[in-house]
Amino acid sequence: MSSALPATPAPLSYDSSNVFARILRREIPAQLLHDDEHCIAFRDVAPQAPLHLLVVPKRPIRMLGEATAADAAVLGHLLLTAAALAKQAGYPDARFVINNGAGAGQSVFHLHVHVLAGRSLAWPPG
Ligand code: AMP
Repeated sequence: MSSALPATPAPLSYDSSNVFARILRREIPAQLLHDDEHCIAFRDVAPQAPLHLLVVPKRPIRMLGEATAADAAVLGHLLLTAAALAKQAGYPDARFVINNGAGAGQSVFHLHVHVLAGRSLAWPPG
């Protein structure tokens, strides 16, 4: 398993002390379920559903709204990985959430996709 952050230079706004950057550097533990060239996935520490995973790119992207065309392949890879992990875990029905900005519920400023499944999920979300 590769654990290093890729060489992509972090934008100035990116704070590399965030918890997901620390998990990517293996400075703090996580229940890792997936690790490939572009992303890792691990269990959320405060699960909101029987399955609650976070899919995190190795690239230092603060939030979806700051991604650029250069990130398109990584963004597609995150979604495909998220869907595959939900299916693998036995949940063909799942919700994939990206909180973008503090006002939308983002608390960790390293892009991540939440994978939620295993209970009925209301719409609209809170
Ligand atoms: P968001 O609010 O969209 O930024 O989501 C951040 C998520 O990270 C929350 O669901 C937290 O429970 C989760 N989280 C925070 N710290 C950790 C950690 N050390 N390991 C796993 N999940 C974490």
